Amino acid sequence: MNICPECESEIELGGYDLDLNETIHCPECSLELKVVSLDPVKLVAAGDVD
Ligand SMILES: [Zn+2]
Repeated sequence: MNICPECESEIELGGYDLDLNETIHCPECSLELKVVSLDPVKLVAAGDVD
């Protein structure tokens, strides 16, 4: 389970077909999150890596 770094809500990724460096948005706070690892999936705030 992944946790949003902004609001600490759990982000369910089961329905996503993720690609490396893809960005998604937290359903709770709409923060843009970037996929930096796929196995396991790791998310960081997109603003932190750009
Ligand atoms: Zn959030």
